[in-house]
Amino acid sequence: MTHPTDRVAFIGLGVMGAGMAANLARKGFDTTVFNRSAAKAKPVVAAGARLAPSARDAVEGAGVVFLCLPATGDVEAVLFGPAGIAARLAAGTVVVDTSTIDPVATRGYSERLAAHGVMMLDAPVSGGQKGAADGTLTCMVGGPDEALALARPFLAAMATTIVHIGGSGAGQVAKACNQICVSANLVGASEAMALAMKMGVDPARVREALLGGAARSAVLERHVQKLLDRDFRPGFRTTLIAKDLSIAAKALDDARVFAPVSAVVLQVIKALAASGRQDDDWCSVGDLVQQLSAVPQEAGAA
Ligand code: NAD
Repeated sequence: MTHPTDRVAFIGLGVMGAGMAANLARKGFDTTVFNRSAAKAKPVVAAGARLAPSARDAVEGAGVVFLCLPATGDVEAVLFGPAGIAARLAAGTVVVDTSTIDPVATRGYSERLAAHGVMMLDAPVSGGQKGAADGTLTCMVGGPDEALALARPFLAAMATTIVHIGGSGAGQVAKACNQICVSANLVGASEAMALAMKMGVDPARVREALLGGAARSAVLERHVQKLLDRDFRPGFRTTLIAKDLSIAAKALDDARVFAPVSAVVLQVIKALAASGRQDDDWCSVGDLVQQLSAVPQEAGAA
């Protein structure tokens, strides 16, 4: 199979996609972008990308097509919906889906695209908005070697760690594993901060001490700092972690894994979404824990 062109398309310019696409343009790749609400493309166009009027126009002549969309249904709609791009992709094109979606659905999409000679990588990322903006994401890749070889130069503009996990869907499985680890960590850290506050101990000092020992983690470094600052702007929206944990719960269930911690964490995150914080950053789970623990508000002040 030949690689159609070196042009790259990027669809979905939200919290993550905007930074990722801007890095492609900044590194000199010929980049065309599309987002449902065009206003979000502004910083990406300022970085040197071209804005297309539709997803189909964006992928015209592109050799590699990136997607960074909220959920499984969005990826399906952009690929195969009434205005879907699949019909416009030339044989040899590589679709790189950086969204976090269902691994089983991913395999299905990959097979449907393969029928047209189009290769697909699942390449979900970790590292948050800052990692996307700085080009320092971690990328967990599933799919064929040949597709990764073609996509790697583009991925390297966005990610410093690129791990080929295995075949189609393996990247999404790795991402589910990531979300299981970080969400249990954040809920545990939220309980720890509430304990410090209720005991009249400065949570910032506790965090500082914990960062020097075995409890050190990116969650304690970044998310707990955001919690202590009471900065609940997303970041990573509560609805997205609820979606990710539902994907993980289904995978755990299908694989018959004993997973009591993930089951409880999912309930906590669902309660967080139901408490009206669905569009807040998910570190607000710490605030919910404080409320349910009757922590006096002044106890959290830095
Ligand atoms: P977001 O909601 O900020 O961005 C999604 C973008 O997709 C929006 O700009 C939206 O307008 C656009 N969009 C939706 N449907 C579209 C369509 N049909 N056509 C064109 N554009 C469309 O979400 P995000 O935080 O950037 O997350 C994107 C993905 O990355 C999600 O799957 C999320 O789970 C994952 N992720 C997010 C983070 C994070 O910290 N935010 C970290 C790692 C992974």
